[in-house]
Parts: sequence; structure tokens; C-alpha cells
Amino acid sequence: MIVVMQGTASKENIQAVIEQMVELGFNVHRTSGEGQMILAGVGTPAAFDVAEFQVLPGVQTAYRISSPYKLAGRGFRPEGTVITFPNGVKVGGQNVTIMAGPCSVESREQIRLSAQQVKAAGGQFLRGGAYKPRSSPYSFQGMGVEGLKLLREVGDETGLLVITEVMEISQIEVMLPYIDCFQVGARNMQNFNLLRELGHVRKPVLLKRGIAATIEEVLLSAEYILSGGNYDLMLCERGIRTFETATRNTMDISAIPVLKKLTHLPVLGDPSHGVGKREFVPAMALAAVAAGADGLLMEMHPNPDKAMSDGAQSLFPEQLEKLVEQLRQLAPVVGRTVA
Ligand code: PEP
Ligand code: MN
Repeated sequence: MIVVMQGTASKENIQAVIEQMVELGFNVHRTSGEGQMILAGVGTPAAFDVAEFQVLPGVQTAYRISSPYKLAGRGFRPEGTVITFPNGVKVGGQNVTIMAGPCSVESREQIRLSAQQVKAAGGQFLRGGAYKPRSSPYSFQGMGVEGLKLLREVGDETGLLVITEVMEISQIEVMLPYIDCFQVGARNMQNFNLLRELGHVRKPVLLKRGIAATIEEVLLSAEYILSGGNYDLMLCERGIRTFETATRNTMDISAIPVLKKLTHLPVLGDPSHGVGKREFVPAMALAAVAAGADGLLMEMHPNPDKAMSDGAQSLFPEQLEKLVEQLRQLAPVVGRTVA
């Protein structure tokens, strides 16, 4: 809360306001404005009526300043959110979680082999799109329900959790029996109706940053899901569009520590969409973890050259294996562990 005193306010007036703020539980910071005393009340008293301050002697104006994203804000859960999945895998806390797999589910053979390779590399989650948001309507649009069934089948075979993208409200019910985590893609970060519905499900959600979204916009989108009562939410930096053309997007590594400061939600990095070229993915993955990421979402394909989407940014299986090994060595330097 901010209380602006009148220029004519007496010392006693100021003292009385300070005492009332302290009584409510505020830490009071004073600064002198242009001939005026400004009192900043820091802290979050359970309930108070700002109008009571507006009428005190010597007060010019008083107003609340509260974060626009109350539930996503770090203050809501200062210790940080840890999401526990049915098999005991946790995202958040000390862990660095590895999620990997192809951009799209293409066939039983392809997704089974992918799952085996992700498992062998040390991943905990298998990714793979069954519903694909493609820039062109003529590109492969995904296998739909058949893809979901295959994800579940090979997830169960390998003991991997399954994460896949939801693009519209009608897909939520269809997906629920098959998946462990919903992924909201960059293009849907501000599909507010979808976000609201995901607030009502009781399954974790990974929310990706939009292609041109500010950090505050990401947090406000998170607020849509949290305000529905679904607190099992994580965020993901996946690169933003800038003037740069050498990479597909610009992986905003700085968003990771900034988000970690502003929110209690786990923050992951997606270096694959972040740079769009496989040769740069390992460097960005390591950088994301060094910057404090709680996990990585990465594309890997058994045969990237034959991938039906995003082959150029998909790691070869042996690259993923080597990268996870490097991440295991790096993580302890920043106080983390790769499971
Ligand atoms: C994906 O993960 O394959 C995807 C489409 O990602 P994004 O929404 O970040 O573009
Ligand atoms: Mn992709």
C-alpha cells in the first residue's frame, strides 16, 4: 500500500498513519517526494480497508499496489511449487527433469523407438505431438487420438510419463485418459478459454511462452489456470521472435532467472524451438540449466532426417544421451540434480 501525505501534514499526522500501518503488519518505508512524504507499506496483511487510510488527517491519497498475478506470484508460495506425478516423479525443487521425444507422433515404431531412446538417455517424460499446430494447413497435422493411444502404450512400456499438446477445449476430455501432462503451445498461450478450462482439470499443465509474449503476459496466462484451482502448473521458455534470423527464435535465457524470481512455478526451457537448429540445442540446454531451469523439453527423433515435423532441430538419440550426461555434470554446480 502507498500513502501519500499532504504537503501540510504535521509530524503527528505522519506518525499516526505509520502506527496504524505497523499495527496492520506492514513494514513502512518512507520517502520524501516533492514536498510530500510518501509512506510505502510492504507486506501482505490479511485484510485491510484502504479507505480507512484515505480519510486520516493529513492524507492526500492512499492506494493498494498488488501484483496483477496474485496466485502465480512468488509471494503466494515462497518455497516454490513441486509437482508430483503418479509414478513419484517430481518437477521442481532440486530436480532437473528431462522431457524428450519427437515433435510429432508418426507411427507405433517411431514413437516406441523414441520412448526407448529417451528412457536409455535418462529422461522421465516422453514428449510427442498428437495434435499439431502447424503454420501451414498443408503440413502434417498429427495423428490425433491414435497418436494419444500410442503415446500411452509406449509410455507404459517404458515407464515414462507422457506430455503432449492440447490445442482446443474439445480435446481435453479426449486426452485425459491417455496423458500425464497437458502442454499448451506458444500459439495458444493466450487462448484464454482453453486456459480457463485447464484450470478445472486435475492434471498438470506445462504452459509455453508465446512467440511474442512478455514475461508479465506469461504470468497472467498462468493466472488463468491457477485461478481455476489447478496449481500443478509449470512454465516453459521456448524462444521468442526477434529481428534475428540466424536462429529460428531467440532463446531468452534471461527469462528463466527472471521468472524464477517472480513466480513459484517450475520453469523449464525448450532449447529445440528456442534455436531451431540441432547443433545449437546442447549449448542452450546447458545454458538453461545453468540459468536455473527446473527441466528441459527437447526434441529427439530416431531418424531426424525423416521426421514429419521439426527434423532440423531434433537431436539424434546419441546426442541426447551425451547431453544428459553433460547436464548431470553441470547440475551440481548450480545446486541441482538430474534424476
Ligand atoms: C512443440 O512442442 O512441438 C511445439 C509446437 O512447440 P511451440 O508451441 O513452442 O511452438
Ligand atoms: Mn516441434
